[in-house]
Amino acid sequence: MTDRTLAEVLDAGLGWLFDTVQPDDAHQQHHGITIGLPHANRIYGFCPTGAANLPVVVVDVAKPELRPYALPLNPLGPDELFDLSSEMERRGFKVRKTWNGHPAVSGSVGLARTAHPTLVAAVARYHRGCTVHPARSVFCGCEHWRAEGARVIRPVLPTPAA
Ligand SMILES: [Zn+2]
Repeated sequence: MTDRTLAEVLDAGLGWLFDTVQPDDAHQQHHGITIGLPHANRIYGFCPTGAANLPVVVVDVAKPELRPYALPLNPLGPDELFDLSSEMERRGFKVRKTWNGHPAVSGSVGLARTAHPTLVAAVARYHRGCTVHPARSVFCGCEHWRAEGARVIRPVLPTPAA
């Protein structure tokens, strides 16, 4: 199996955030979706409505080696968050702000452009909760609620997840 590349992960995740039309009867949990990059020990997250209700792209060490009272053994690289931000800007996405990064095992890049309106609407439908069982809110496990969540269009990846 050919490992997917970071460019493919970003193509898929950013395409999902900004260019994918979601059905008007689907909901999406607000943390969004994650795409793994196993050979690099990374997981990338694409959150539609993070800080200031704007999209946030997150990079996490997939299998962090943590130690008590000490820094992790395998943090993000010193330039990794900067490089990720630069790649966003190169792709035409203005960066608002970054959080964390080296020497931590997680970093976030906040983008200035609003996610696709149909995705924002799907997140709003998630926050609204189950319409059949309003008292259960987002914690409902009924068929209707699960089917609504399952209708969200997922990112398209060229290679299967490892
Ligand atoms: Zn329900």
